[in-house]
Amino acid sequence: MILAHIDQNKQSLNRTRPLRYFILPLGCQMNSSDTERITSVLEDMGYEPTSHEDEADLLGVVSCSVRQKAIDRVYGRIHQWNKWKDKRSLITFVSGCILPADEKKFLKLFDLLFKIDDLPRLPDIFDQYGMVTPIRGISRKRAGIRTDFDTHFWDIQPKYSSPFQAFVPIQNGCDKFCTFCAVPYTRGREISRGSKDILNEVGRLVEKGYKSITLLGQNVNSYGHDKKEDAYFFKDLMEDIGKIGTASKKDFWVYFTSPHPRDMTRDVLETMAKYPCLANNIHLPLQSGDDRILKKMNRSYTINHYENIVRWVREILPLATLFTDIIVGFPDEEEEHFLGTRQAMDQFQFHMAYIAQYSPRPGAVSARWEDTVSANTKKSRFRILTTDLMRVASAQNEKQAGKILPVLIEAEGRKKGFLMGKTEGRIPIRIASSDKSLIGSFALVRVTKSLSLSLEGEVDSLLPAGFLQNPS
Ligand code: SF4
Repeated sequence: MILAHIDQNKQSLNRTRPLRYFILPLGCQMNSSDTERITSVLEDMGYEPTSHEDEADLLGVVSCSVRQKAIDRVYGRIHQWNKWKDKRSLITFVSGCILPADEKKFLKLFDLLFKIDDLPRLPDIFDQYGMVTPIRGISRKRAGIRTDFDTHFWDIQPKYSSPFQAFVPIQNGCDKFCTFCAVPYTRGREISRGSKDILNEVGRLVEKGYKSITLLGQNVNSYGHDKKEDAYFFKDLMEDIGKIGTASKKDFWVYFTSPHPRDMTRDVLETMAKYPCLANNIHLPLQSGDDRILKKMNRSYTINHYENIVRWVREILPLATLFTDIIVGFPDEEEEHFLGTRQAMDQFQFHMAYIAQYSPRPGAVSARWEDTVSANTKKSRFRILTTDLMRVASAQNEKQAGKILPVLIEAEGRKKGFLMGKTEGRIPIRIASSDKSLIGSFALVRVTKSLSLSLEGEVDSLLPAGFLQNPS
Protein backbone atom coordinates (compact mmCIF):
# COMPACT_ATOMS: atom_id res chain seq x y z
CA MET A 1 0.00 0.00 0.00
CA ILE A 2 1.17 3.53 -0.71
CA LEU A 3 0.40 6.12 1.89
CA ALA A 4 0.69 9.79 1.18
CA HIS A 5 -0.27 13.15 2.52
CA ILE A 6 0.50 15.78 0.00
CA ASP A 7 0.30 19.45 0.80
CA GLN A 8 -1.23 20.90 -2.36
CA ASN A 9 0.46 24.26 -1.69
CA LYS A 10 3.82 22.65 -2.15
CA GLN A 11 3.19 21.36 -5.66
CA SER A 12 4.27 24.28 -7.79
CA LEU A 13 7.81 23.11 -8.36
CA ASN A 14 10.30 25.27 -10.18
CA ARG A 15 9.76 24.60 -13.90
CA THR A 16 12.42 26.95 -15.29
CA ARG A 17 15.02 24.18 -15.18
CA PRO A 18 14.92 20.36 -15.26
CA LEU A 19 13.44 18.84 -12.12
CA ARG A 20 16.04 17.02 -10.09
CA TYR A 21 16.00 14.21 -7.56
CA PHE A 22 18.31 13.21 -4.75
CA ILE A 23 18.11 9.86 -2.92
CA LEU A 24 19.89 8.91 0.28
CA PRO A 25 20.19 5.10 0.54
CA LEU A 26 20.86 3.84 4.06
CA GLY A 27 21.61 0.40 5.48
CA CYS A 28 22.47 -2.73 3.55
CA GLN A 29 23.12 -3.70 -0.08
CA MET A 30 19.44 -4.59 -0.48
CA ASN A 31 18.55 -0.93 0.03
CA SER A 32 21.23 0.11 -2.48
CA SER A 33 19.72 -2.33 -4.97
CA ASP A 34 16.19 -0.98 -4.33
CA THR A 35 17.57 2.53 -4.88
CA GLU A 36 18.79 1.52 -8.36
CA ARG A 37 15.21 0.60 -9.30
CA ILE A 38 13.68 3.74 -7.74
CA THR A 39 16.23 5.80 -9.68
CA SER A 40 15.18 4.09 -12.88
CA VAL A 41 11.48 4.92 -12.34
CA LEU A 42 12.22 8.57 -11.47
CA GLU A 43 14.38 8.99 -14.58
CA ASP A 44 11.60 7.44 -16.66
CA MET A 45 9.39 10.17 -15.24
CA GLY A 46 11.85 12.79 -16.48
CA TYR A 47 13.67 13.64 -13.25
CA GLU A 48 17.41 14.22 -13.46
CA PRO A 49 19.85 13.15 -10.77
CA THR A 50 21.77 15.58 -8.60
CA SER A 51 24.35 14.85 -5.95
CA HIS A 52 23.55 18.17 -4.23
CA GLU A 53 20.48 17.73 -2.07
CA ASP A 54 20.07 21.49 -1.65
CA GLU A 55 19.23 21.83 -5.36
CA ALA A 56 16.87 18.83 -5.60
CA ASP A 57 13.10 19.17 -6.14
CA LEU A 58 12.39 15.61 -5.06
CA LEU A 59 14.21 14.30 -2.01
CA GLY A 60 13.98 10.69 -0.90
CA VAL A 61 15.45 8.38 1.66
CA VAL A 62 15.61 4.59 1.39
CA SER A 63 15.42 3.87 5.05
CA CYS A 64 16.84 1.15 7.28
CA SER A 65 14.96 0.32 10.47
CA VAL A 66 17.62 -2.13 11.53
CA ARG A 67 20.27 0.31 12.62
CA GLN A 68 19.48 3.04 15.12
CA LYS A 69 22.14 5.25 13.48
CA ALA A 70 20.23 5.00 10.18
CA ILE A 71 16.94 5.97 11.88
CA ASP A 72 18.69 8.98 13.46
CA ARG A 73 19.91 9.99 9.99
CA VAL A 74 16.38 9.72 8.55
CA TYR A 75 15.09 12.15 11.20
CA GLY A 76 18.12 14.42 10.75
CA ARG A 77 17.55 14.69 6.98
CA ILE A 78 13.76 15.11 6.99
CA HIS A 79 13.85 17.87 9.61
CA GLN A 80 16.38 19.71 7.44
CA TRP A 81 14.36 19.13 4.24
CA ASN A 82 11.16 20.30 5.90
CA LYS A 83 12.90 23.53 6.91
CA TRP A 84 13.85 24.08 3.24
CA LYS A 85 10.16 23.85 2.35
CA ASP A 86 9.65 27.32 3.88
CA LYS A 87 11.89 28.75 1.16
CA ARG A 88 11.25 26.57 -1.88
CA SER A 89 8.95 23.93 -3.31
CA LEU A 90 10.00 20.36 -2.91
CA ILE A 91 8.57 16.91 -2.37
CA THR A 92 9.92 14.30 0.04
CA PHE A 93 9.48 10.54 0.13
CA VAL A 94 10.59 7.56 2.17
CA SER A 95 10.80 3.88 1.22
CA GLY A 96 12.94 0.86 2.18
CA CYS A 97 12.80 -1.06 5.47
CA ILE A 98 10.15 0.62 7.62
CA LEU A 99 8.68 -0.88 10.77
CA PRO A 100 4.88 -0.68 10.95
CA ALA A 101 5.29 1.40 14.14
CA ASP A 102 7.43 3.96 12.26
CA GLU A 103 4.99 4.37 9.35
CA LYS A 104 2.69 6.76 11.21
CA LYS A 105 5.60 8.87 12.45
CA PHE A 106 7.15 9.05 8.97
CA LEU A 107 3.86 10.02 7.36
CA LYS A 108 3.70 13.15 9.50
CA LEU A 109 7.13 14.14 8.22
CA PHE A 110 7.35 12.93 4.60
CA ASP A 111 4.99 13.73 1.73
CA LEU A 112 5.02 10.18 0.47
CA LEU A 113 5.75 6.75 1.89
CA PHE A 114 5.77 3.67 -0.30
CA LYS A 115 6.79 0.07 0.05
CA ILE A 116 9.25 -1.13 -2.57
CA ASP A 117 6.59 -3.55 -3.87
CA ASP A 118 4.55 -0.46 -4.82
CA LEU A 119 7.32 1.11 -6.90
CA PRO A 120 5.68 0.33 -10.28
CA ARG A 121 2.69 2.44 -9.16
CA LEU A 122 4.78 5.50 -8.29
CA PRO A 123 4.03 7.45 -11.51
CA ASP A 124 0.30 6.89 -10.94
CA ILE A 125 0.53 8.04 -7.36
CA PHE A 126 2.19 11.26 -8.51
CA ASP A 127 -0.68 11.74 -10.95
CA GLN A 128 -3.33 10.80 -8.44
CA TYR A 129 -2.17 13.50 -6.03
CA GLY A 130 -1.75 16.08 -8.76
CA MET A 131 1.98 16.26 -8.19
CA VAL A 132 3.98 18.01 -10.89
CA THR A 133 6.34 15.73 -12.75
CA PRO A 134 8.72 16.75 -15.52
CA ILE A 135 6.78 14.96 -18.24
CA ARG A 136 3.27 15.50 -16.95
CA GLY A 137 0.90 16.01 -19.80
CA ILE A 138 2.88 13.82 -22.18
CA SER A 139 1.30 10.49 -22.99
CA ARG A 140 2.58 7.98 -20.44
CA LYS A 141 2.99 5.41 -23.16
CA ARG A 142 5.01 7.82 -25.31
CA ALA A 143 7.12 8.68 -22.31
CA GLY A 144 7.79 4.98 -21.74
CA ILE A 145 6.35 4.92 -18.24
CA ARG A 146 5.11 1.60 -16.99
CA THR A 147 1.75 1.90 -15.33
CA ASP A 148 0.90 -1.75 -15.24
CA PHE A 149 -0.27 -2.46 -11.71
CA ASP A 150 0.66 -6.11 -12.15
CA THR A 151 4.31 -5.25 -12.80
CA HIS A 152 6.52 -6.42 -9.98
CA PHE A 153 9.27 -4.07 -8.82
CA TRP A 154 11.79 -6.74 -9.81
CA ASP A 155 10.65 -6.31 -13.44
CA ILE A 156 11.83 -2.70 -13.43
CA GLN A 157 15.12 -2.35 -15.25
CA PRO A 158 17.46 -0.84 -12.62
CA LYS A 159 19.81 2.02 -13.29
CA TYR A 160 22.99 0.35 -12.06
CA SER A 161 25.21 2.66 -10.08
CA SER A 162 28.40 1.02 -11.41
CA PRO A 163 29.38 0.08 -14.98
CA PHE A 164 31.12 -3.13 -13.88
CA GLN A 165 29.63 -4.28 -10.54
CA ALA A 166 25.94 -5.04 -9.98
CA PHE A 167 23.55 -6.38 -7.38
CA VAL A 168 20.82 -8.73 -8.56
CA PRO A 169 17.99 -9.27 -6.04
CA ILE A 170 16.81 -12.87 -6.03
CA GLN A 171 14.59 -12.86 -2.99
CA ASN A 172 12.93 -10.45 -0.58
CA GLY A 173 11.85 -10.83 3.05
CA CYS A 174 12.73 -13.45 5.61
CA ASP A 175 11.04 -16.30 7.50
CA LYS A 176 13.78 -16.91 10.04
CA PHE A 177 12.79 -14.45 12.82
CA CYS A 178 16.18 -14.14 14.51
CA THR A 179 15.43 -12.40 17.80
CA PHE A 180 17.90 -9.55 17.19
CA CYS A 181 16.53 -8.65 13.74
CA ALA A 182 13.52 -6.68 12.52
CA VAL A 183 13.71 -7.64 8.82
CA PRO A 184 10.77 -10.11 8.86
CA TYR A 185 8.61 -7.25 10.18
CA THR A 186 9.86 -4.58 7.76
CA ARG A 187 10.23 -6.62 4.54
CA GLY A 188 7.72 -9.35 5.31
CA ARG A 189 7.88 -13.07 4.60
CA GLU A 190 10.22 -14.64 2.05
CA ILE A 191 9.32 -14.27 -1.61
CA SER A 192 11.60 -15.65 -4.32
CA ARG A 193 11.97 -13.82 -7.62
CA GLY A 194 11.20 -15.87 -10.72
CA SER A 195 14.28 -17.75 -11.94
CA LYS A 196 13.75 -16.68 -15.56
CA ASP A 197 13.90 -13.00 -14.54
CA ILE A 198 17.05 -13.53 -12.53
CA LEU A 199 18.78 -15.47 -15.31
CA ASN A 200 17.76 -12.83 -17.86
CA GLU A 201 19.16 -10.04 -15.70
CA VAL A 202 22.41 -11.93 -15.08
CA GLY A 203 22.68 -12.76 -18.81
CA ARG A 204 22.21 -9.09 -19.76
CA LEU A 205 24.86 -8.00 -17.27
CA VAL A 206 27.33 -10.59 -18.54
CA GLU A 207 26.61 -9.51 -22.11
CA LYS A 208 27.31 -5.88 -21.16
CA GLY A 209 30.66 -6.94 -19.72
CA TYR A 210 29.90 -6.67 -16.00
CA LYS A 211 32.72 -8.20 -13.96
CA SER A 212 31.18 -8.73 -10.54
CA ILE A 213 27.58 -9.73 -9.87
CA THR A 214 26.20 -10.23 -6.37
CA LEU A 215 22.97 -12.17 -5.87
CA LEU A 216 21.10 -10.49 -3.05
CA GLY A 217 18.54 -11.59 -0.52
CA GLN A 218 18.01 -11.74 3.22
CA ASN A 219 18.34 -15.49 3.10
CA VAL A 220 19.52 -16.37 -0.40
CA ASN A 221 19.99 -20.09 0.04
CA SER A 222 16.39 -20.72 1.01
CA TYR A 223 15.63 -19.50 -2.53
CA GLY A 224 12.62 -21.29 -4.03
CA HIS A 225 11.29 -22.82 -0.83
CA ASP A 226 8.30 -20.46 -0.86
CA LYS A 227 7.27 -21.76 -4.30
CA LYS A 228 6.12 -25.23 -3.39
CA GLU A 229 4.96 -26.04 -6.92
CA ASP A 230 8.36 -25.43 -8.59
CA ALA A 231 11.13 -27.53 -6.95
CA TYR A 232 13.77 -25.12 -8.29
CA PHE A 233 16.15 -24.13 -5.51
CA PHE A 234 19.31 -22.10 -4.88
CA LYS A 235 21.53 -24.91 -6.17
CA ASP A 236 19.56 -24.96 -9.45
CA LEU A 237 19.87 -21.20 -9.81
CA MET A 238 23.63 -21.37 -9.23
CA GLU A 239 23.91 -24.20 -11.76
CA ASP A 240 22.08 -22.16 -14.43
CA ILE A 241 24.17 -19.06 -13.71
CA GLY A 242 27.31 -21.22 -13.97
CA LYS A 243 26.13 -22.38 -17.40
CA ILE A 244 25.66 -18.75 -18.49
CA GLY A 245 29.30 -18.18 -17.51
CA THR A 246 30.58 -21.16 -19.46
CA ALA A 247 28.54 -20.32 -22.57
CA SER A 248 29.59 -16.65 -22.53
CA LYS A 249 33.35 -17.37 -22.26
CA LYS A 250 33.51 -14.00 -20.48
CA ASP A 251 35.41 -13.18 -17.31
CA PHE A 252 33.23 -12.37 -14.31
CA TRP A 253 32.67 -13.44 -10.73
CA VAL A 254 29.31 -14.14 -9.10
CA TYR A 255 28.85 -13.78 -5.33
CA PHE A 256 25.84 -14.20 -3.08
CA THR A 257 24.86 -12.67 0.25
CA SER A 258 23.67 -13.63 2.77
CA PRO A 259 23.10 -17.34 3.13
CA HIS A 260 21.80 -18.87 6.37
CA PRO A 261 23.80 -21.78 7.84
CA ARG A 262 20.63 -23.82 8.38
CA ASP A 263 19.89 -23.79 4.64
CA MET A 264 23.44 -24.36 3.37
CA THR A 265 23.61 -27.63 1.44
CA ARG A 266 26.55 -29.57 0.07
CA ASP A 267 25.23 -29.44 -3.47
CA VAL A 268 25.51 -25.62 -3.56
CA LEU A 269 29.22 -25.91 -2.77
CA GLU A 270 29.66 -28.70 -5.34
CA THR A 271 28.01 -26.50 -7.97
CA MET A 272 30.35 -23.64 -7.07
CA ALA A 273 33.30 -25.97 -7.57
CA LYS A 274 32.04 -26.86 -11.07
CA TYR A 275 31.79 -23.37 -12.55
CA PRO A 276 34.71 -20.89 -12.52
CA CYS A 277 32.40 -17.84 -12.60
CA LEU A 278 30.91 -18.82 -9.21
CA ALA A 279 33.48 -17.09 -7.06
CA ASN A 280 35.45 -18.75 -4.28
CA ASN A 281 34.00 -16.76 -1.41
CA ILE A 282 31.43 -17.73 1.21
CA HIS A 283 29.89 -15.25 3.61
CA LEU A 284 28.28 -17.43 6.28
CA PRO A 285 27.02 -15.49 9.32
CA LEU A 286 27.91 -17.31 12.56
CA GLN A 287 26.67 -14.63 15.03
CA SER A 288 27.86 -16.48 18.15
CA GLY A 289 30.16 -19.38 19.02
CA ASP A 290 27.93 -20.68 21.81
CA ASP A 291 24.89 -22.92 21.35
CA ARG A 292 22.95 -21.31 24.22
CA ILE A 293 23.32 -17.85 22.73
CA LEU A 294 22.53 -19.17 19.23
CA LYS A 295 19.32 -20.63 20.65
CA LYS A 296 18.43 -17.34 22.31
CA MET A 297 19.09 -15.62 18.97
CA ASN A 298 16.72 -18.17 17.34
CA ARG A 299 19.40 -18.99 14.78
CA SER A 300 18.17 -22.60 14.49
CA TYR A 301 21.61 -24.23 14.08
CA THR A 302 24.32 -25.37 16.46
CA ILE A 303 28.07 -24.93 16.39
CA ASN A 304 28.30 -28.57 15.42
CA HIS A 305 26.14 -27.92 12.34
CA TYR A 306 28.22 -24.86 11.40
CA GLU A 307 31.40 -26.92 11.85
CA ASN A 308 30.12 -29.48 9.33
CA ILE A 309 29.49 -26.79 6.74
CA VAL A 310 32.99 -25.36 7.21
CA ARG A 311 34.35 -28.89 6.76
CA TRP A 312 32.47 -29.17 3.44
CA VAL A 313 33.73 -25.76 2.33
CA ARG A 314 37.36 -26.69 3.02
CA GLU A 315 36.94 -30.06 1.33
CA ILE A 316 34.99 -28.95 -1.76
CA LEU A 317 36.32 -25.39 -2.19
CA PRO A 318 39.80 -25.45 -0.65
CA LEU A 319 40.66 -22.01 -2.08
CA ALA A 320 37.49 -20.27 -0.89
CA THR A 321 37.70 -17.44 1.60
CA LEU A 322 35.27 -17.61 4.51
CA PHE A 323 33.63 -14.45 5.84
CA THR A 324 31.22 -14.15 8.75
CA ASP A 325 29.14 -11.82 10.93
CA ILE A 326 29.39 -11.90 14.72
CA ILE A 327 27.49 -10.05 17.45
CA VAL A 328 29.20 -9.58 20.81
CA GLY A 329 27.34 -8.64 24.00
CA PHE A 330 23.97 -10.20 23.12
CA PRO A 331 21.64 -10.31 26.18
CA ASP A 332 22.87 -12.89 28.73
CA GLU A 333 26.20 -13.40 26.94
CA GLU A 334 28.54 -14.36 29.79
CA GLU A 335 32.31 -14.64 29.62
CA GLU A 336 32.14 -18.40 28.92
CA HIS A 337 29.80 -17.83 25.94
CA PHE A 338 32.14 -15.18 24.58
CA LEU A 339 35.05 -17.62 24.98
CA GLY A 340 33.10 -19.98 22.70
CA THR A 341 33.03 -17.24 20.05
CA ARG A 342 36.77 -16.69 20.43
CA GLN A 343 37.33 -20.42 20.01
CA ALA A 344 35.14 -20.42 16.89
CA MET A 345 37.28 -17.62 15.43
CA ASP A 346 40.37 -19.80 15.94
CA GLN A 347 38.72 -22.99 14.76
CA PHE A 348 37.11 -21.65 11.58
CA GLN A 349 40.01 -19.35 10.57
CA PHE A 350 37.82 -16.68 9.03
CA HIS A 351 39.35 -14.40 6.42
CA MET A 352 36.99 -11.63 7.48
CA ALA A 353 34.43 -11.12 10.24
CA TYR A 354 32.06 -8.18 10.51
CA ILE A 355 31.87 -7.85 14.29
CA ALA A 356 29.06 -5.79 15.83
CA GLN A 357 28.48 -4.77 19.43
CA TYR A 358 24.91 -5.71 20.26
CA SER A 359 22.40 -2.90 20.40
CA PRO A 360 18.64 -3.49 20.58
CA ARG A 361 16.98 -2.98 17.19
CA PRO A 362 13.59 -1.31 17.40
CA GLY A 363 10.93 -3.84 16.41
CA ALA A 364 13.10 -6.91 17.09
CA VAL A 365 12.08 -9.40 19.78
CA SER A 366 15.31 -8.87 21.76
CA ALA A 367 14.55 -5.14 22.06
CA ARG A 368 12.00 -6.15 24.71
CA TRP A 369 14.71 -7.90 26.76
CA GLU A 370 17.08 -6.40 29.22
CA ASP A 371 20.35 -5.35 27.56
CA THR A 372 22.39 -7.17 30.21
CA VAL A 373 25.95 -6.66 28.94
CA SER A 374 27.47 -3.29 29.81
CA ALA A 375 28.75 -0.96 27.08
CA ASN A 376 32.30 -1.32 28.45
CA THR A 377 32.17 -5.12 28.32
CA LYS A 378 30.82 -5.02 24.74
CA LYS A 379 33.61 -2.67 23.74
CA SER A 380 36.23 -4.85 25.37
CA ARG A 381 34.85 -8.05 23.75
CA PHE A 382 34.78 -6.24 20.40
CA ARG A 383 38.45 -5.27 20.77
CA ILE A 384 39.52 -8.76 21.88
CA LEU A 385 37.67 -10.47 19.02
CA THR A 386 38.98 -7.96 16.47
CA THR A 387 42.53 -8.76 17.61
CA ASP A 388 41.75 -12.49 17.25
CA LEU A 389 40.41 -11.85 13.75
CA MET A 390 43.51 -9.89 12.72
CA ARG A 391 45.67 -12.80 13.89
CA VAL A 392 43.79 -15.54 12.02
CA ALA A 393 43.14 -13.45 8.88
CA SER A 394 46.74 -12.32 8.79
CA ALA A 395 47.91 -15.96 8.80
CA GLN A 396 45.61 -16.64 5.82
CA ASN A 397 46.80 -13.58 3.90
CA GLU A 398 50.45 -14.48 4.42
CA LYS A 399 49.87 -17.55 2.25
CA GLN A 400 49.16 -15.22 -0.69
CA ALA A 401 52.49 -13.35 -0.57
CA GLY A 402 54.49 -13.78 -3.79
CA LYS A 403 51.56 -15.25 -5.75
CA ILE A 404 50.13 -13.76 -8.94
CA LEU A 405 46.37 -13.45 -8.55
CA PRO A 406 43.53 -12.24 -10.78
CA VAL A 407 42.18 -9.03 -9.27
CA LEU A 408 39.21 -6.86 -10.18
CA ILE A 409 40.39 -3.25 -9.99
CA GLU A 410 37.57 -1.25 -8.43
CA ALA A 411 38.67 2.28 -7.59
CA GLU A 412 41.45 4.74 -6.97
CA GLY A 413 43.26 4.18 -3.70
CA ARG A 414 43.04 6.68 -0.86
CA LYS A 415 46.75 7.38 -1.28
CA LYS A 416 47.95 8.95 -4.53
CA GLY A 417 49.66 6.49 -6.88
CA PHE A 418 47.56 3.50 -5.79
CA LEU A 419 44.48 1.66 -7.03
CA MET A 420 42.21 -0.58 -4.96
CA GLY A 421 40.97 -3.97 -6.07
CA LYS A 422 39.64 -7.26 -4.76
CA THR A 423 40.81 -10.82 -5.25
CA GLU A 424 38.30 -13.51 -6.17
CA GLY A 425 37.98 -14.21 -2.43
CA ARG A 426 37.12 -10.53 -1.90
CA ILE A 427 40.32 -9.70 -0.04
CA PRO A 428 41.08 -5.99 -0.61
CA ILE A 429 44.38 -5.37 -2.36
CA ARG A 430 46.19 -2.06 -2.76
CA ILE A 431 47.98 -1.88 -6.10
CA ALA A 432 50.91 0.41 -6.84
CA SER A 433 49.65 2.08 -10.03
CA SER A 434 48.13 5.40 -11.07
CA ASP A 435 46.64 4.01 -14.29
CA LYS A 436 42.97 4.88 -13.75
CA SER A 437 42.06 3.27 -17.07
CA LEU A 438 42.45 -0.09 -15.29
CA ILE A 439 39.44 0.60 -13.05
CA GLY A 440 36.66 -1.80 -13.95
CA SER A 441 38.94 -4.43 -15.46
CA PHE A 442 40.74 -7.55 -14.32
CA ALA A 443 44.50 -7.68 -13.99
CA LEU A 444 46.99 -10.27 -12.84
CA VAL A 445 48.56 -8.79 -9.74
CA ARG A 446 51.73 -9.96 -7.99
CA VAL A 447 51.19 -9.88 -4.20
CA THR A 448 54.16 -8.05 -2.67
CA LYS A 449 52.98 -7.80 0.91
CA SER A 450 50.31 -9.26 3.19
CA LEU A 451 48.68 -7.23 5.93
CA SER A 452 46.19 -8.32 8.60
CA LEU A 453 43.02 -7.77 6.58
CA SER A 454 44.36 -6.88 3.14
CA LEU A 455 47.16 -7.32 0.62
CA GLU A 456 49.47 -5.10 -1.41
CA GLY A 457 50.72 -5.77 -4.92
CA GLU A 458 51.72 -4.57 -8.35
CA VAL A 459 50.25 -5.24 -11.78
CA ASP A 460 51.98 -8.12 -13.52
CA SER A 461 49.88 -8.05 -16.70
CA LEU A 462 46.35 -7.57 -17.96
CA LEU A 463 44.16 -10.62 -17.70
CA PRO A 464 44.05 -12.55 -21.01
CA ALA A 465 40.42 -12.75 -22.25
CA GLY A 466 38.65 -15.89 -21.06
CA PHE A 467 41.33 -16.57 -18.42
CA LEU A 468 38.86 -16.98 -15.55
CA GLN A 469 36.76 -19.48 -17.47
CA ASN A 470 39.82 -21.60 -18.07
CA PRO A 471 42.50 -20.62 -15.54
CA SER A 472 44.76 -23.63 -16.22
S1 SF4 B 1 18.08 -14.61 8.74
FE1 SF4 B 1 17.80 -13.62 10.73
S2 SF4 B 1 19.27 -11.90 10.63
FE2 SF4 B 1 18.95 -12.57 8.52
S3 SF4 B 1 17.28 -11.25 7.75
FE3 SF4 B 1 16.34 -13.14 8.53
S4 SF4 B 1 15.75 -12.65 10.64
FE4 SF4 B 1 17.24 -11.11 9.99
